[in-house]
Amino acid sequence: MKAVIFHDVGDVRVETVKDPVIQEPADAIVRITTAAICGSDLHLYHGTIPGMMPGAIIGHEYVGVVEEVGPQVQSFKRGDRVVGAFHVACGKCRTCRRGHYNQCRFGGVLGYGVAFGNLDGTQAEFARIPYADYTLRRVPDGLSDEQALFTGDILTTAYGAVVNSGLKPGENVAVIGCGPVGIMAVQSAFALGASRVFAVDLVKERTELAAQLGAIPVPSKEMDAEAKIREWTDGEGADVVIEAVGGSATLALGFELVRGGGRISAVGITAEDTFAYPLMASLVKDVTFRLGVANIHRDIDTTLALVQGGRIDPTVVVSHRLPLEKAPEGYRLFAERQANKVILQVSK
Ligand SMILES: [Zn+2]
Ligand SMILES: [Zn+2]
Repeated sequence: MKAVIFHDVGDVRVETVKDPVIQEPADAIVRITTAAICGSDLHLYHGTIPGMMPGAIIGHEYVGVVEEVGPQVQSFKRGDRVVGAFHVACGKCRTCRRGHYNQCRFGGVLGYGVAFGNLDGTQAEFARIPYADYTLRRVPDGLSDEQALFTGDILTTAYGAVVNSGLKPGENVAVIGCGPVGIMAVQSAFALGASRVFAVDLVKERTELAAQLGAIPVPSKEMDAEAKIREWTDGEGADVVIEAVGGSATLALGFELVRGGGRISAVGITAEDTFAYPLMASLVKDVTFRLGVANIHRDIDTTLALVQGGRIDPTVVVSHRLPLEKAPEGYRLFAERQANKVILQVSK
């Protein structure tokens, strides 16, 4: 089969490799129809997150058709159209039973290197999906590949961040970062009852899509974001801040934007180890701070239902559609910020 192979930092290539086979009884083999390049793949591409071995298949956003299932798989059969979570979870260990699927003792991230389970990725014609009963979901009738695709990663990441903030209907939300995850945080905040959403990004053009979705654009290179949000909130600040960039600069901004007694939920990926926590500001303002990776299995059924019901259209972030063979071009465009979100069309 053809697959996108990681060779080195800045070097991915489409090559012919062996088809995956069932290795464990709970595995499924999925024939991938549509995949995508994720912002988190760029961390591997840039080498800011190490651990990808040369020769490994990259990618973790995927929709496809079940080709074969192992003997323990009960919920899926050959021919089922599926979307899958980017991280796999056994569904049976203690952390899975508590609902913390992202902490599964036997879990991992597809196509994300040795530190994340050393699993092959999904930017390929076929992929082996461990714990298929738990990792996969059937694509609801009437949804296109692209509509379903993002529930396996960035939409559910964004939605989960809003859930983790404890947003109540009528509250206002500041979303920091208007990349694909930030845009989906805007959509999720509205779906969960936000009264107003402030879309903060240094780059004005990136706030424009958020504005089309009903958010108030706050291009922070051109205006003082904190002052602007205070103006809109009677001097208080944001009830909830969703940080969707990753790293200390935008986390620090979150503490400036949040109102006293408010909550910050951060989900942006960063390779930074430490953050100078604003102890005094957090203490005085009585801020709740929450940071954690996505827990897709917890929320994917909800996001699929929101997409199926027409409440969220995640395809608004797509800027490029390329055949699998052109994946290296997709990585280059994405890395150079010429692309917002790149879809890889693998097969019909
Ligand atoms: Zn991802
Ligand atoms: Zn588990």
